[in-house]
Amino acid sequence: MNCTKLMEEMEVYLKSDRCKDLNEANAQDIHHALSKAIMAQIATPWKESQKLHREARHAYYMSAEFLIGRAIYNNLLCLGIYDEVEKLFNERGLKLSDMEEVEDASLGNGGLGRLAACFLDSAATLDLPLDGYGIRYKYGLFKQYIQDGFQKETADDWTRFGDPWSIRVDSDAVLVRFADQTVRAVPYDLPVIGYGTKHIGNLRLWQAEPLSSFDFNEFNDQHYEASVREKNRAEDISRVLYPNDSTDEGKKLRLKQQYFFCCASLQDMIKNYKLVHGNDFSHFADFNAIQLNDTHPVISIPELIRQLTRYEGVSFDDALNIAKKTFAYTNHTILPEALEKWNKHLLIEVVPDIYEIIEKINNRFIDELYQQKRNPDFIQDVQIIKHDMIHMANLAMYGSSYVNGVAAIHTEILKKSTLHSFYEMWPERFQNKTNGITQRRWLAMNNRELSAMITRLLGSDDWVTDLPQLKKLEKYATDKKVLDEFWDIKHKKKHQLGLFMLKHDGTAPIKDSIYDIQIKRLHEYKRQFLNALSILYIYYGLKDGSIQDFHPTTFIFGAKAAPGYVRAKGIIKLINEIARLVENDGQVRDKLRVIFVQNYNVSYAEKLVAAANVSEQISTAGTEASGTGNMKLMLNGAVTLGTLDGANVEIAQEAGMENEYIFGATVDEIEKEENNNYIPYHIYNNDPKIKRVMEALVNGTLDDGGTGMFKELYDSIIHNVDWGQSHPDKYFLMYDFQSYVDTKLKLNRDYKDKYAFAEKCWRNICNAGKFSSDRTIKDYADNIWHIDPIEFD
Ligand SMILES: *Cc1c(COP(=O)(O)O)cnc(C)c1O
Repeated sequence: MNCTKLMEEMEVYLKSDRCKDLNEANAQDIHHALSKAIMAQIATPWKESQKLHREARHAYYMSAEFLIGRAIYNNLLCLGIYDEVEKLFNERGLKLSDMEEVEDASLGNGGLGRLAACFLDSAATLDLPLDGYGIRYKYGLFKQYIQDGFQKETADDWTRFGDPWSIRVDSDAVLVRFADQTVRAVPYDLPVIGYGTKHIGNLRLWQAEPLSSFDFNEFNDQHYEASVREKNRAEDISRVLYPNDSTDEGKKLRLKQQYFFCCASLQDMIKNYKLVHGNDFSHFADFNAIQLNDTHPVISIPELIRQLTRYEGVSFDDALNIAKKTFAYTNHTILPEALEKWNKHLLIEVVPDIYEIIEKINNRFIDELYQQKRNPDFIQDVQIIKHDMIHMANLAMYGSSYVNGVAAIHTEILKKSTLHSFYEMWPERFQNKTNGITQRRWLAMNNRELSAMITRLLGSDDWVTDLPQLKKLEKYATDKKVLDEFWDIKHKKKHQLGLFMLKHDGTAPIKDSIYDIQIKRLHEYKRQFLNALSILYIYYGLKDGSIQDFHPTTFIFGAKAAPGYVRAKGIIKLINEIARLVENDGQVRDKLRVIFVQNYNVSYAEKLVAAANVSEQISTAGTEASGTGNMKLMLNGAVTLGTLDGANVEIAQEAGMENEYIFGATVDEIEKEENNNYIPYHIYNNDPKIKRVMEALVNGTLDDGGTGMFKELYDSIIHNVDWGQSHPDKYFLMYDFQSYVDTKLKLNRDYKDKYAFAEKCWRNICNAGKFSSDRTIKDYADNIWHIDPIEFD
C-alpha cells in the first residue's frame, strides 16, 4: 500500500467529512479520516476475497459476541504499514498513539467474544474462507467506573464518534418475522484483514430497524406516536449486549436477539449459495459449514430447516439432514446447570414456527432412541424438550455433526459427565479444539519492544504467522545478556503501564515491584475473592513479622461484574477496601499495593499483559473451560500462578511444571471432596491465620459502606449453602487457601533470583507456540469444516 498516497487521502477525508485541515483535527477526526482512507484502499481485495469465499467450500462463524477492541492499530500492523504510517505521522507533527482515545468496540462480554475475534483474525491470515455473523449492538458491554470502591455502570455508546470500520449494506437488508412484530435486519460489514496477505475476511453484524423509515410528510399525532413506538420496539432488538455470559436476563428480548441474527444470517447464506449454485440444495452441505459459538446461535438449526422447507421446496427429512451436516457446535460450559434452556411457552409466543420445528426434531430423535432400545432415563437425559424447557445444547448435539470442547481437560469432562450420554451414542462427534489467541494483536501489536527483540534473535519475523518458531529461542534461556534485555523490556512495559494507570486510574504500581495481575470477568468461580483473601493474609503476615524479606508486590485486578450479580460486586468493593487498608498503613505501604483498574477491556488488556510478571489463573479445578487470558500473559513472559484447570493444564505441559506456580486441588480431588462432606468451617476454625483473614470481613477492619456485602461474602464461605449445593464455599476457597498462599510466597522468594526467574518467564514465551489461534483455526478447518485456503490469481 502506498502510504504517501494514504496520507493524502486521509487529508481529503478530513476536509470532506470533517471540514478540517490536518492542524485543526483532533484524534477522533484523524482516526475517522485514516480509517476511511484505508477502507477505500482495501475495497477491491475485500470484494475479491468475498467472491472467492462464495465459490469455494467455506465456513461461517456464528456468535452473539465479537469482542473486537480497537481496529486501527491492528489493521495497520496486518497491512504491514504500521512503521511507515507512524513515520509519516511524525513528519506531520502527529502521533499514532493519540488514537488511543478511540474507544473499543466491546460487542462481547469476555473470553467467548474475544475468541471469536481472534478466530476471524487467524482465518484471514491463513487465507481460510471463514466469515463471521453477529449482532451490531448499539450499546456494547457497559463502561465501568469505581466510586467509593463500588462498581458503577454507564452505557457504552461506542459509535458516538462514528464507526469508520463498518460499511452499511442496505441492499442486503432482510426481514425477520416474529409473532408480534416484523423488523428489518440491516447488515454492517467489517473487514478482517489478514496479516501479510491480500485476503480480507468479512464480519457481518446485523442491526434491527423498523420496516419503513418514518415518513415526516404524513404527520399526524396518532401516526407519529405509533411510528415512534414501532421504531423503538424494532431497535430494541439490537440495542444492548446483555452483560452476562451465563444466565439470561430480559429473556424475551434476548431470545429475539438470538433469532434475529440467526434468521438474517441464514437468509444471507442461502442467498449466497443460490448465487453460485442455483436452487439445488442437495449440495448445500458440500459448500457450507457453520460453527455455532456456544448455544446462543443454536436456534439456527430449526431456522435453517424452516427456510429450506418453507421457501426452497426442500422436504423436512432432507432439510434436517442438511442441517446435521452443516452445523458444528462449540461448548464453552462445564457446569450442567449453566447450559442454556428456553421455556417452550416463550418460543411459542415469540417464534411459534420454530417451536413447531423443534418439536418435530425432538419427536424424530425420540423415535430413533426407542428404535435403539435406549432406557427411559437415557432418553430423558438427551431429549431436547423436557418439562416445558428446550435444552439448546441437546438440540445442538442432535442437529450437528461435531461438538468440541475448548481445552483438553474440558473436552474430557464433556465426555465423562456434562454430555456423557451423547458421547455414548456418538463418540465420533466429539473433538477437542484448545482455544488460542492471535499473536498479531497479543504480541506483535501490544508489545512492539519484545517483538522486535524476538525478530532480531530469530533473524526473521516468521513467528508472526508461525508461533511455534518461538521454540527456537529456548537456547537463550540461560543467556544472561538475553535475559537482561528481556528484563529491561519488561521493565519498560511496566513503566508504560504505570504511566497509563496514573492517568486513567489515578494511581500506579510500586516502583520495581512484582506486577501480579488477575484480569477477567468477575465471577465466583474465577475466585478473585481468593486472591483478595491471600493479600489480606500477606498483609497480616508482614505486620506480625511472620512473612520476612517480601519482595514488594502490586496486585492488579481488572474485571467487570454483571450489574445484577450482587456477590461479584461485593468482591469488587472488598478488593478496593483492602487496597485502602494497605495504602493507609505506613508499616506495609512500601511493600504491598492493590489496584483495581477501571473499565477493563481489550485495549487495557493489551497493556496489562505486556507488563505482567505473574498471571493469576486460579479458578476452582473443573470450572474454567479453557481461559485465553492465561495464554496472552504467557506469551508476554509472565509465569502462571494457577490451578490445574482449563488450558492451564496445557500451559504447564508446554512450558514445564517447573516454570509455573501450580497449586490447589485437581479436578479429581474436588470431585472427591464434593462427595466427602466438605466442611470449610473446619479449615477456618483450625487455622488462626485463616480465621484472622476471614474475620477482617466482619469485625470492622473493612467497611462495606453499610451494605452488608462483606458479611454476605463471609457467610457464603463459612455458613450459607447456596441453592442446589450441599456445602458452603461452593468454589473451595478454604480448601485451596493454604496451598495458594504458600505457592504465592514461594514465587515471591524466587523472584529475588533475577536470572532464575527471568528464565522461567522466557521459557513461557518460547513454549507459547501451541496457543496461537492459528493452530486452533487450522484444526477447525482440517477436522470440522474441511475447508482449504483460497487462492488468488
Ligand atoms: C482475553 C480476554 C478475556 C478472557 O479472559 P479469561 O482470563 O480467559 O477469562 C476477557 N476479557 C477481555 C477484555 C479479554 O481480552
